[in-house]
Formats: sequence, structure tokens, C-alpha cells
Amino acid sequence: MKLLVVAATCLALAAAVHDRVISVESFDGFKVYRAFPEDQDLDFMRKFENNGVYDFWTEVRKGKPVDIMVPPSSQATFTRQLTERGVRHEVMIPNVQALIDLEKAQSKLGVKGGDHDMTWTEYHPLEDMYSYLDHLEANFEWVTTQSIGKSGEGRDMRIAKICKSGECGNKPAIWIDGGIHAREWISPATVTWMLKELVENDADHPDLTENMDWYFLPSHNPDGYAFSREENRMWRKTRSDHGSIFGCMGVDANRNWGYQFNTGGSSNDKCSDTYHGPEAFSEVENTNVRDFVLSVKDQLVFYNSIHSYSQLILLPWGYTSNPPDNYDYMEAIALKGSDALTAVHGKFYETGCIPCMLYIASGSSADWALGAAGIQFSISMELRDTGSYGFILPPDQIIPTAEEVWAFHITAIREIYSQLP
Ligand SMILES: [Zn+2]
Repeated sequence: MKLLVVAATCLALAAAVHDRVISVESFDGFKVYRAFPEDQDLDFMRKFENNGVYDFWTEVRKGKPVDIMVPPSSQATFTRQLTERGVRHEVMIPNVQALIDLEKAQSKLGVKGGDHDMTWTEYHPLEDMYSYLDHLEANFEWVTTQSIGKSGEGRDMRIAKICKSGECGNKPAIWIDGGIHAREWISPATVTWMLKELVENDADHPDLTENMDWYFLPSHNPDGYAFSREENRMWRKTRSDHGSIFGCMGVDANRNWGYQFNTGGSSNDKCSDTYHGPEAFSEVENTNVRDFVLSVKDQLVFYNSIHSYSQLILLPWGYTSNPPDNYDYMEAIALKGSDALTAVHGKFYETGCIPCMLYIASGSSADWALGAAGIQFSISMELRDTGSYGFILPPDQIIPTAEEVWAFHITAIREIYSQLP
């Protein structure tokens, strides 16, 4: 009986802790700290990763700082813990809500007009992005759209297909997706801007549509995105329910892919932000993408899943530090793209293997795209910035970010095309 009472108390406490993170309406007074752990402090830092209170904006990694959001009630404890351990730390974002308010204030600046609602001067809801897909489909006979399936909550997952001169499927093809992690709002914004640039400025770069077919998925995780807009700005996962006794929802869709699934760098804890799900491809959002990609995999020569933040160009594998056979091929192309990116606005995005720059992460889409689908250039990118704003990148950086990322894409893609047999 005593045990039962203790167990029930533990459950209630844990649920209360997780509730604090789940149902945040305001991030007033939440701070983001940047900690600089030494190698011997990495396990110490990792202990906090899944405590349900601290929100790790970046994961614990060797030789790199770690950004952690802490609610006001825990800041004294947090800084004491780090100080006692001797881990250097500083406040990076003094008040998260202030940045969210700035994000909203800037959103009022855009001018809407015409037959769609996208401005790229603010972060738009899914419906606005889809109004832009409708706009392109109505105005360009070589653009079509398709729902590749519905999300867990029933939202369509729509892609734009850019296939000039006849049907899709006869040329080398490009896949670009955004928003697999909900709170990384710059990602769908950048993906839709690149779609606009490709189609509406076709005359400036006709080779791109003459030589290749293109597939854009603006939102890989539409339920999570809606939740991050309407309920919790810092939501990352899907919104599926896998029966957590604490009521924790969702799976990290970028740990749920069926290639080397659950072989490290993902969590069994349903409350964790890196929960890999009960089995590979438990998430319908991932099976929708998997099935479409497999249907065109023989054409695909480029696969990029776009994230934020940290300014990185990430090459597989993620599950192991051993590089794949084609690593040098991917790296040479990525470095050319990176040079082109930096030339636009002077920003530097570091290129390298995932465990070299971040941490082991199994079940990612880039690993699956290379390992299971056989796409020879399969990467993911982390967009701006390097931490001043983190996930809450001001909307006036959408277009500059998209411009530099576009330069990466066209440079890398032209290089890939020139090397095709
Ligand atoms: Zn991400």
C-alpha cells in the first residue's frame, strides 16, 4: 500500500512537472542560457535533458555550447547546479516572450494582395502556404499540387510538383521538405520562398526547370506547426498519442525513420523531445513522405530536409561516426554550395557529418533517404541563426535566409546535374 502511495505521488509529481512544459501559454521571464560544458561535463548536462523542466534548444555535444530554456521558477536552481559543477554559462536570451512578441509585432508589416496570402515578411499558417500552392497551380501550367496523405489530425500534406515539358518522372529530380520540427518556423518559410523563386523567376534560371523535376513539401509536420502557432511556440514533435501515462504527446519525427531506427541518439521516454516513437514509421507524416519518395526514388538525385537553428549543412550518417561510401562526393558538393551561400549575405554555415558537428542521432530522414531510398545526395540543413534568436528568428530575416539557402541549392544542384552520367 505504502509503495502504491509513493508510486502515485511520483506519478503526480512527474505529471505536474511535464504539465508545466506542455501547457505554456506565455514564456514571460523564461531565459535561454548558453552553457559551455567541458568534455567531462557532458554526462552531467545530459542528465537534465529529459527532466521535463529544462528545454534543450540544442543538444549536448562535444566542444560546442548548449542552449537551454529555463522557466523563471527553476533559474536559481539551474544556475546553482551549473556553478557548483563549474560549467561556464551565460544568459543568451533574457526573456523568450519578448522575442515572441517581436515576432508577432513584425508580422503586422506585410502587405497581402492578389490571390494568395504569402508575404515572406511574416510566418504564415499552413492555409496561407496552401493558398500559395493554389496560386502557382492556377497560374503555371507546369506546376501541379498533390496531397501525399493526411496528418494524424487530418490535415492534408500538400506538395508542389514542378515538372516542365510533360509529366513528372522523366528527369533527375529534387526533393526539399520543411517543418519536420514544428517550432523551426524559418524552415517552411524558406521552403515556400525557394518554391516562389524557382517558379516565378524561371526566366532567370531556366536550366533548373528544363533539366530537373522538383518536389517541395512546405510542412512535414502540419499538426505540430499548428500547435506551435496556437498553443506552445516551443513545440517540436508531432501530435500523436502513444499512451503516455503522463499525457505527453508526440514523436520526434526526425528520429522515427526506418533506417537504423533506435540505434542511438533518440529517447524511449514518451515525454522527451527526442522520443523515437513505439516503432519505426509509427508517424503517419513519415509514412506519407516515405511512400511518395519511394515512388520517385529512381529519379531523385537531391534530398534535403530543412531545420533550424545553428547554420549547419549536415551529411549522413547520423547513426554512426563512420562515413558512408559516397561521403566525399556529398561533401565536395555541399562545400561548393556553402561557398555560394556565404557569398550572398556573408553568413557561414558549417558543413560536416552529423556526429562530427552535433551528436549521434538515429532514425533521421537523411539517413533513410541515403540508406534505404538510395538517394546519393541526402542531407539536412540547420538555418539561421547561431543563437541570438534561436527558433524565434525575426521575420525580417526570412527573405535574407531564404536567399542564401537558395544559392546553396542551385549551386549544389547544378553541380550534381553536371556530374550525372
Ligand atoms: Zn529540427
